[in-house]
Amino acid sequence: MKLSSFAGRVFGSVLYVASTALAQDFATHGMYTEPNTRITFYTSYQQDGPITGGGEFSMTSVGGFTFGMALPPSAATTDYYDYIGLVIGSTPNKKGWTGVLHGDQGAGMPNHLMILAWPTGNGNEIATSFRYSPCFCAKTNCTNSSYQLPVIYQGSAKLTKIYTNVNDTHWTMVYKCSRCLIFDDPSQSEFNASTSAGQFGAGWAQSVTSPVNPPDPNSDFSQHDNGQGSYRIIVSSATQESYSKWESMTATAAPPSSTTTPPTTTTLPVSGVPVPTQTSYDYVVIGGGAAGIPIADKLSESGKSVLLIEKGVASSARWGGTYRPESGWLDGHNLTWFDIPGECNRIWNGGSAGVACTDTDQMAGCVLGGGAAVNAGLWWKANPSDWDYNFPAGWKARDMQGATDRVFSRIPGTDHPSLDGKLYVQSGFDTLRTGLEKAKWKSVTANNVPGEKNRTYAHTPYMSANGERGGPMATYLVTASKRKNFQLWLNTSVERINRVGGHAVNLDVSPTINGGRVGTVKLTPVTGRVILAAGAFGTPKLLFRSGIGPKDMLDVVASSSDSKVMINSASWINLPVGQGLNDHLNTDTVISHPNVSYYDWVEAWNTPIEQDKVNYLTKRIGPLTQAAPNIGPMMWEEIKGPDGIVRQFQWTSRVEGSMGEPNGNTMTLSLYLGRGSVSRGRTSINKGLNMLVSTIPYGDPNDLAAAAAAIDSMVKTLNTIPNITWVHPTANLTGAEYLKTLPLDYANVGSRRSNHWMGTAKLGTDSGLKGGTSVVDTNTKVYGTDNIFVVDASIWPGMPSTNPSGLIVVAAEHAAELIQRLPLNTALPKGAKCGGADYGGSQVCRDPFVCKVVSKSLSTCA
Ligand SMILES: Cc1cc2nc3c(=O)[nH]c(=O)nc-3n(C[C@H](O)[C@H](O)[C@H](O)COP(=O)(O)OP(=O)(O)OC[C@H]3O[C@@H](n4cnc5c(N)ncnc54)[C@H](O)[C@@H]3O)c2cc1C
Repeated sequence: MKLSSFAGRVFGSVLYVASTALAQDFATHGMYTEPNTRITFYTSYQQDGPITGGGEFSMTSVGGFTFGMALPPSAATTDYYDYIGLVIGSTPNKKGWTGVLHGDQGAGMPNHLMILAWPTGNGNEIATSFRYSPCFCAKTNCTNSSYQLPVIYQGSAKLTKIYTNVNDTHWTMVYKCSRCLIFDDPSQSEFNASTSAGQFGAGWAQSVTSPVNPPDPNSDFSQHDNGQGSYRIIVSSATQESYSKWESMTATAAPPSSTTTPPTTTTLPVSGVPVPTQTSYDYVVIGGGAAGIPIADKLSESGKSVLLIEKGVASSARWGGTYRPESGWLDGHNLTWFDIPGECNRIWNGGSAGVACTDTDQMAGCVLGGGAAVNAGLWWKANPSDWDYNFPAGWKARDMQGATDRVFSRIPGTDHPSLDGKLYVQSGFDTLRTGLEKAKWKSVTANNVPGEKNRTYAHTPYMSANGERGGPMATYLVTASKRKNFQLWLNTSVERINRVGGHAVNLDVSPTINGGRVGTVKLTPVTGRVILAAGAFGTPKLLFRSGIGPKDMLDVVASSSDSKVMINSASWINLPVGQGLNDHLNTDTVISHPNVSYYDWVEAWNTPIEQDKVNYLTKRIGPLTQAAPNIGPMMWEEIKGPDGIVRQFQWTSRVEGSMGEPNGNTMTLSLYLGRGSVSRGRTSINKGLNMLVSTIPYGDPNDLAAAAAAIDSMVKTLNTIPNITWVHPTANLTGAEYLKTLPLDYANVGSRRSNHWMGTAKLGTDSGLKGGTSVVDTNTKVYGTDNIFVVDASIWPGMPSTNPSGLIVVAAEHAAELIQRLPLNTALPKGAKCGGADYGGSQVCRDPFVCKVVSKSLSTCA
């Protein structure tokens, strides 16, 4: 579900840094003497690493970011406004800008001075510009302000460069900043960071896109997409006896041969617990997410040994999770933010570090529970058409009925999650309902009538139980963990599946943090099986690293750090992995209405409203039992595109501003294009072994024409509500005209995605081995293999009507039956057929024989 309140592409930039009472500190600190100036700085270093999500909220940054500060000793006792600064910015593609934000107690974007800086392209020259984002609200009180486009700062700050240097990937600037710790733009209220208070906040953001006109310091620039964050400056560490000497330094020319590398922090090696060498497993399930947990549980029911390997940390408190608010209001309770529905938006508001996957450019949960730990918990029984339209025989709605019943008997879900049976914070729902009623849309209880998805609306059902998140972690994992034949390893990443021909024999694992496992995990000889449930990006990544995928991707892996361990190219299995990438195309629209009122979910992280907190902790009632931010009504409509294909649309409403509109009376209505969409994209792996969306899966003209009609229909439907204002689209725009204003390119993927990625290892009967589009057969077995299966979002041939996690759990229940029904592999005698076109049986030969290729259509044990 897409719940980020920030538009992905804003010209003039939105340097977003969490505004908190005291800025949170996500940096690594140290001391660094810059070699050209010999000035010693107290440094704040942000990790060099692949960005998460679209990069706008990533806590890591490609290339890293370093800020250094030096202050005079007197700053510790008397507030001081000047400092000597160091910035080492990253330009990984020789492009980009870096922003330094001067905070006070907090480091929020509004009314704080920023330095934006970037290489101009002319030698070692760096352009710098003072900006600030004006307070949207009363001058003196910015706590409720929203994020405004930064403008040129007119205060008294002055920057003098002492040293600059630019190389291919980084640039360095040492500078004196006069009157930069006081904010005195004449149009705003003056204040200063108090150095005498001992510490103050600061922030950063970076982009890999250069400003529009790099030589011009006043140039426009686009939103940060290479990370952002906040940190604290400890004054006693930044003060230096030599400050006055350094302060008088003038510009230093860069020595011609000088290359600058950022000060690196020593990364301690992660220590792992060795994998037991004597044990082998009947089933190894990779990935403890929405699909991995239920399938591991179901497979373990038979008594076979099952190992579930999850690379992330524990999330829910039930499993040892520890992520709680800094203010301590959850301390002593068996709860983390993952357990409390009202805290689900934490993933978008400063909670992604250590939680979001760092090896993909999109948002995904890499903790126990996967997406089902970090999502909003919307829980849908599939519209029967979702199976009937998208899936082949064996996966039609009637085939899925048993699995659906089993899942919903364990996780029924509820649209009244508060244990007193009441619904809270319903101003948004009640406002829109009047228009829907007038237009004769039908009110339904969605999971009682899953097929009624045309001009219907509903309260939102969640997977929660007992006022907590619930879902697979609270059900399937509980039963699995009681079985002696089931094991769960956390903090352990599967690096690759090692195979002989199409038969997996073992898996290499490594720890992601101390205490994870290291070594090689054995499958039971001959009969062992491996199930990939690592998600729509994690699964294709593992397949690529295991030599399964299109040649261009396997070539990338072969040229990476995997080169020495990758399976020989003679054993590569050529399948269209990654090529059916799909997601609900999202189009945000915004309305405002005087009756709509905002609930501050972001504030509820550290300081929830006292009564709501007490009600939640003591009775599991109130707003915190519902997912943030006041989701509902959910609305559906079917619309036929010009190509005659009926498309399913879902509108997800929430009480929150977006597209630059402030919270308050605003609602965002997000339009998802579901079943019937024909656009497809691609995910690729790069040499750093990170996954990216290389072709966005949106933009087919028939898809867009249907989306335009859906917007027109909703505008008309809601226009009957007295006092409603359509903010986006504005009254003069048709749906088609509005869509033209919203770019459909990679830079804007953050606002067009729904985080419902699917389809990267498609299930179907048209084998990719023979030029078809499918990676797994209807038993979820990877074509060309005899014991490698995929069961997760990757197998989806087309988008469903709704958010997908409920359907993914149903698919896991169904797949568990299919897989267990398949005869186990047997070791074949000499001369037996063990491979070739259309062969789907065992590829294992009895010792000492091996499966040898005779011709394209035949392999035999010899
Ligand atoms: C922010 C957000 C909000 C969402 N909101 C909703 C919603 O409200 N309702 C809904 O239905 N859907 C929602 N979704 C989508 C839904 O959560 C996902 O579609 C679903 O979780 C995908 O299930 P999966 O099993 O395919 O993968 P995941 O649930 O992502 O699980 C994959 C797991 O594999 C692990 N893994 C990956 N690689 C490896 C490896 N090499 N070794 C070991 N472990 C590995 C990961 O850490 C992860 O735990 C949301 C998604 C996001 C990101």
